[in-house]
Amino acid sequence: MEKRNLAILGSTGSVGTQALEVVRSFPERFDISVLTANNNYETLIAQALEFRPMAVVILQNDLYSPVEEALSGTGIQVLSGADALSEVVELEQINVVLNAIVGSAGLKPTINAIQKGKDIALANKETLVVAGELVMGLANQHGVKILPVDSEHSAIFQCLVGESNPIEKIYLTASGGPFRGKNRDELLFVTKDQALKHPNWSMGAKITIDSASLMNKGLEVIEAKWLFGLSPEQIDVIIHPQSIIHSIVQFEDGSMKAQMGLPDMKLPIQYALTYPKRYANNYPRFDFMAHKELTFERPDMETFHNLKLAYQALREGGNRPCVLNAANEIAVEAFLRGEVSFLGMSEIIEETLCQIKNVDNPNLSDYMACDEESRLVARNLVLSSAY
Ligand code: NDP
Repeated sequence: MEKRNLAILGSTGSVGTQALEVVRSFPERFDISVLTANNNYETLIAQALEFRPMAVVILQNDLYSPVEEALSGTGIQVLSGADALSEVVELEQINVVLNAIVGSAGLKPTINAIQKGKDIALANKETLVVAGELVMGLANQHGVKILPVDSEHSAIFQCLVGESNPIEKIYLTASGGPFRGKNRDELLFVTKDQALKHPNWSMGAKITIDSASLMNKGLEVIEAKWLFGLSPEQIDVIIHPQSIIHSIVQFEDGSMKAQMGLPDMKLPIQYALTYPKRYANNYPRFDFMAHKELTFERPDMETFHNLKLAYQALREGGNRPCVLNAANEIAVEAFLRGEVSFLGMSEIIEETLCQIKNVDNPNLSDYMACDEESRLVARNLVLSSAY
């Protein structure tokens, strides 16, 4: 494989830092052109000094000066602001943009990168939740690959290599999170610290809360629809608490392919960055005797309402998934600040979906307007202190 030149958006986060670990293991395979962060300028500076990109972007304008000062004399261009984040992916030498930003802020940079013909390694599932049809249409039009980083979607993607046969259905596996098996009464007073204790994965705060509420799986169902061209009825969710089987494809003859491995995000990240090749690494290997039991359960959509809301939004289409995502982002932020309860998050999302009118066939500006309006409604619901 020729050396690949990467832009890593969200390089200071959980996926971003693990992606840089992968890059560190294969210095002969990758060059880094761009690194970006929102607030965490100290980590961004350290990463820039180690990986020597052409440019870094710090989203917050007031953090430009410390980054500029620390990197002066290095030749690394320092930029700030949302426009710079979208535009920096245009640098000619970039082959692959790894989008590891959290939230719908990832949408515009993804679209811009696709329009400039860059392949996308996509961790930022919110991009496809908000505007899946638009993004996949553009990817087709510009002949760029969307390489999934999410472990479940990477699993499906890996099961499909070499297959031209139609898919009957897929099973997305879910660990069930820290509250698996609990009923609504038991969830009434759960705290942020309890919700942040994921049993199997160490991830950023937002996706960890989404995992506890099963919204993460709901977002992944929507992401899978767009990545693999499936109907909602072809996408099933199965709870698999050990997180060893990362997802399963079932073909029309009833045969199933599953992709397995230890829960380690470096594996799907590496595959997205080296696809279609696999490179030898020395990460720990699976030991059957240490995992003698792999178990499965049905998800409890009555307790974990978010998964049901996500399926509903997907079936209704239009701007519904965009509303769901925006309201969820606001609800999760409020839960992390201790302003709403765990179960209150679903109620805010449901109420926001009721208050925002449906728009069929939205274009990019419809999505942006819908995202903003949904956030406003959800913020007001948070302020009402009823949740
Ligand atoms: P983190 O919160 O750990 O990191 C997010 C990154 O995005 C950080 O670099 C952060 O900068 C930056 N960022 C945050 N807000 C903005 C913004 N508004 N504009 C631009 N940049 C921003 O998230 P994760 O790494 O956990 O998740 C990233 C994405 O990957 C999410 O979409 C998540 O669902 C998905 N994903 C994550 C997995 C994981 O294991 N973590 C697994 C599968 C998917 P700063 O550090 O300065 O705040």
